[in-house]
Amino acid sequence: MTEALHQQTLPQLRAALQAGQLSATELAQHFLQRIQAHADLGAFLATDEAVTLAQARAADARLSQGDATVLTGIPVAHKDLLVTREFPTTAGSRMLTGYRSPFDATVVQRLGAAGMVCLGKLNCDEFGMGSGNENSAFGPVHNPWDPSRVAGGSSGGSAAAVAAGLAPASTATDTGGSIRQPAGFCGLTAIRPTYGRVSRHGMVAHASSLDQAGPMARSAEGCAWLLSAMAGPDTEHDATSLDRPAEDYAQGLDRPLEGLRIGVPHGFFGAGLSADVGAALEAALALLEKQGARRVDVALPRADLAVATYYVLATAEASSNLARYDGVRYGHRTPDPADLDALYEKSRSEGFGTEVKRRILTGTHVSGHGCFDAYYVKAQKVRRLIAQDLQEALRHCDVIAAPVAPTVAWPLGAPERSALDDYLADVYTIPASLAGLPAMSVPAGFGAGGLPVGLQLIGNYLQEGRLLNIAHQFQQHSDFHRQHAKGF
Ligand code: GLN
Repeated sequence: MTEALHQQTLPQLRAALQAGQLSATELAQHFLQRIQAHADLGAFLATDEAVTLAQARAADARLSQGDATVLTGIPVAHKDLLVTREFPTTAGSRMLTGYRSPFDATVVQRLGAAGMVCLGKLNCDEFGMGSGNENSAFGPVHNPWDPSRVAGGSSGGSAAAVAAGLAPASTATDTGGSIRQPAGFCGLTAIRPTYGRVSRHGMVAHASSLDQAGPMARSAEGCAWLLSAMAGPDTEHDATSLDRPAEDYAQGLDRPLEGLRIGVPHGFFGAGLSADVGAALEAALALLEKQGARRVDVALPRADLAVATYYVLATAEASSNLARYDGVRYGHRTPDPADLDALYEKSRSEGFGTEVKRRILTGTHVSGHGCFDAYYVKAQKVRRLIAQDLQEALRHCDVIAAPVAPTVAWPLGAPERSALDDYLADVYTIPASLAGLPAMSVPAGFGAGGLPVGLQLIGNYLQEGRLLNIAHQFQQHSDFHRQHAKGF
């Protein structure tokens, strides 16, 4: 298959850069032009040609001096929840309009140090709160496979950018599914690492006990390259960062799948899963079996409590994290407030969008006096039970297979859709988030309307390498990840 430059995988781009067939500068220019040409997708919130080209020239110098890593000269774009010195950061919120961070998030700094060239910042749901990227203060993101549909959320920009060939790879963050679900909706490969594997330093906080950053790319190999550069201890800046050296995830990709036990939770493939998604996933599992994997029935008896548990804990943490946006230290400040109370009240009313306000109210309620034991403490207990169920399941299998989402991407601006519908659509991604387990989304076929379907793989703690290996092997025998949205 011969692909256009913007459709190539990271290994293909690297080979061209190494062989000198292509310079990092040419590559960056190519993508900058595409970003401009497809601005109507709403994927990017900020670009800066001068900054990008300066980084590209530095990468070219490294390439010619022979001091390049596998990522040197390859462009990347960051979710706007990761702070950057050289680009503005908004977290998808009016609250942070005009904000410029004095430092780079660790993820940004590490990928930059590896020589990646930053193309800009990507649209997302406000503070990462959403499942369809319709809660961004700067407009929705359109799915390149069907621009009348959502790209997924909250990392809709991260997914649409790669699926439309506006960037070969991107970063995203996942609190309850925001790396996996948009990747699934846009036909990409992506991984949410074990909680603590990637530093949260410089990631705008949503729910701190759940937030993790991870990469999105076309292939598992591309994700392995990015994750190897992103992961590893950062204990000085993030107290929950795991003190365990980074791994070279590309090393283990070739391990065959013979004998792999794939746990299939019965509850996950029955009622609630739309038939087209179910059929694509069945075919994908059969393909894994053909490669020597074996299906094992597992149970996740309390998975149906996961959504309710998550929306108690995540909102409680969010209401606390968002208290810092008071219009005094930074963030939007209302002009001419009558007094101090009005300053707080009006700055927050004007700066935050509807969904964020809903979550602040919910989170304040469930963690407040009189409700704390009934909701917050109860949810913490159920969180532990769900994590225990996953551990029990993982005693009988090496990896758990699940849908990423119950349906393919839904229509943008559907008037009949409520916030609750969006919450319920997170049903398959939330359990791994609550447990802090690594999980990935792998392109597994197509459903209604020819829209991509993602297969979710959930592994045990620090089993990112195994997950990437399984996805890579699957991609040696399937070409779902090589399909492109029409016109891109
Ligand atoms: N959809 C979930 C939410 O709105 C998850 C978002 C995320 O992972 N950032 O909270």
